[in-house]
Amino acid sequence: MSNETLQAVRGMNDILPDEAALWLWFEEVVRDWLHSYGYRNIRMPLVEPTSLFKRAIGEVTDIVEKEMYSFEDALNGDLLTLRPEGTASCVRAALQHNLLYNATQRLYYYGPMFRHERPQKGRYRQFHQFGVEALGFAGPDIDAEQILMCARLWRKLGLKDISLQINTLGDTAARQRHRSRLIVYFEQHRELLDADALRRLHSNPLRILDSKNPAMQSLIAAAPALSDELETEALRHFEELQTILRRHDLPFEINPRLVRGLDYYNRTVFEWVTQRLGAQGTVCAGGRYDGLVEQIGGKPATATGFAMGVERLLALLQEDGMALPKSQVNVYVVHQGELAGRLASQVAELLRDDQLRVLLHCGGGSFKSQMKKADASGATVAVVIGDDEAQAHEVSVKPMQGGVQQRVSVQNLAATVKTFIK
Ligand code: ATP
Ligand code: MG
Repeated sequence: MSNETLQAVRGMNDILPDEAALWLWFEEVVRDWLHSYGYRNIRMPLVEPTSLFKRAIGEVTDIVEKEMYSFEDALNGDLLTLRPEGTASCVRAALQHNLLYNATQRLYYYGPMFRHERPQKGRYRQFHQFGVEALGFAGPDIDAEQILMCARLWRKLGLKDISLQINTLGDTAARQRHRSRLIVYFEQHRELLDADALRRLHSNPLRILDSKNPAMQSLIAAAPALSDELETEALRHFEELQTILRRHDLPFEINPRLVRGLDYYNRTVFEWVTQRLGAQGTVCAGGRYDGLVEQIGGKPATATGFAMGVERLLALLQEDGMALPKSQVNVYVVHQGELAGRLASQVAELLRDDQLRVLLHCGGGSFKSQMKKADASGATVAVVIGDDEAQAHEVSVKPMQGGVQQRVSVQNLAATVKTFIK
């Protein structure tokens, strides 16, 4: 057996306590924001049948072809996959539990997603998304609401330098016509296609358009545009979306090359992009996916949603110098002697009854060394108990930022401590 120190899986990160404080704060802000728009939490398994993602995301996509953690259940041979995204699971759950058709749903979920990509800044193999899905809404009003709510979140977080790109992918017939024109066009330039593009030329030419290969960008830029094929209804939907965004003074750019990496989108697609994270500049992305429910076996249902990449948003906040208080502990209880020890643990519990956050010193040591720990803990006050205090059923309260130490009865302790806490 090797004695090598074991490491986490490449591309899967530990989030240590200092950084986790930022995560907790962020998660709370995001949940408040979601609830303010009436979105309700849904929680799905991290593992789904592989066939769900194949059907929902599309067989000929980067995710399904290259990025999924799929495995065979050793006990029964089922083919399973660690979820690479949440929309497919969310819609599967809504369908399975009859949340569709008779009602509209505003749903959100949060958690890790898994994609076997090349790890780099802003791109990991386990990463986290907040996903937001509105089911049963057909109009551009909900598309606009989702975009506007993102803008509100960026304001809440104080994030600048994030800009909005939108596009429309039209409906099925337009995409079919566009697809045929793309095949003709790329056939004419076969020699410029890379291996992925060649393989996808006939199976999924739209995917060539979101290739990240720099060598193909000018070819892609000159490809036939979907906008020439759009139906009146889809165009009207897109126009109306823009009208609402303008009415709210929300700047946007129409990017006709924005096609998104998953097959399930139709009509509205959008991305929030920053220049500050290099090639990993998309922090939030989504759009309409009216065909998905049918694709996974339900009657047709309209839907629109988006997902934000938590690591990328936190990287932006950290770049902006976002700092959080190191500790939220209010009280550190220092004690020496047997009687004092007994009173100390009682006092700690009493203070917690009063909603205070209390660190009870464990492990003994001199008053001096305990006071050092109290200092390092970031607590606002130290409660000091020696055997003489304990005899009198009293304790000493020492404000850590300076000020006089005072002796109080156990009964008056919580009130005294609270005078030091804002
Ligand atoms: P990209 O083009 O950067 O690969 P994507 O189009 O594959 O992104 P989506 O499937 O739309 O990404 O996921 C929504 C968001 O989740 C992205 O905008 C991004 O912020 C985040 N995200 C996606 N993949 C990763 C990853 N491997 N690591 C960290 N965040 C990710
Ligand atoms: Mg990707």
